[in-house]
Amino acid sequence: MIKVVHTVKEVREEVAKWRKEGLSVGFVPTMGYLHEGHQSLIKNAVKDNDRVVVSVFVNPMQFGPTEDLESYPRDLEADTKLCESTGANLVFNPQPEEMYTDGFCSFVDMNGLTKELCGKSRPIHFRGVCTVVSKLFNIVTPDRAYFGQKDAQQLAVIKRMVTDLNTPVEIIGCPIIREEDGLAKSSRNTYLSKEERQAALILSKSIFMGKKLVEDGERDSAKVIKAMTDMINTEPLAKIDYVDVVDFSTIEKTDVIKGETLVAIAVYIGKTRLIDNFIVNV
Ligand code: AMP
Repeated sequence: MIKVVHTVKEVREEVAKWRKEGLSVGFVPTMGYLHEGHQSLIKNAVKDNDRVVVSVFVNPMQFGPTEDLESYPRDLEADTKLCESTGANLVFNPQPEEMYTDGFCSFVDMNGLTKELCGKSRPIHFRGVCTVVSKLFNIVTPDRAYFGQKDAQQLAVIKRMVTDLNTPVEIIGCPIIREEDGLAKSSRNTYLSKEERQAALILSKSIFMGKKLVEDGERDSAKVIKAMTDMINTEPLAKIDYVDVVDFSTIEKTDVIKGETLVAIAVYIGKTRLIDNFIVNV
């Protein structure tokens, strides 16, 4: 039977029991409203580890003042069922007060990797992500933690953070899971009206087209960006936040596609901001 706990103390007690038995621990941090994207991370964690912890926490610190913290979808019961049927052992669902106690004033922040892409339009986002993920690593003390390539900049940021801070955890990146028609799965897809859901396909369409361009030999970032931008702009409901090409490990813009390169987009469909990307190694 899966256990759902709400306090740091309970997580520590559970993990301590497992450690006594010499069991390995995998960890999947999420904001809940779980779908097959999250489930693929949990599946990988179950495959690699003796015990798996999933956190479900909509972290206020990573939302800007005009963002969707209040309206972010929540369904702990469905999340627990999905975790249990996928083989996870523990769900950690803290209240914000449990994570940010009175007087909280310590943060984990980064000087590089967070200036481009989502860091530009969400200036406090990665400080919130790094702080909460560091806290969760200290609470769960996992051997391995699983992150989706769906949030590619976040994956790069977390990898850099654990290297820089010598956090004893292995970070494992997992591929993007998509709907049958190509749209990357996201808890935020629930915001889309029927018409917007159709319009949102322009993201994956432009991603597949851009990827093909690079696979066919295009190495000029500007040309890939232009082709993808032009395609997205054919959709009247779409408004581009960014279309960019960066080095995947440094998240710095690169004019020429070489080495491990991330091509990432963020596009508003109506009021909903969606992201997608592909990574190539040339
Ligand atoms: P979130 O709940 O949106 O914070 O996501 C929690 C984790 O699930 C992050 O590591 C995401 O990258 C990952 N994730 C979300 N959507 C997908 C997806 N469609 N495919 C793969 N991983 C995903």
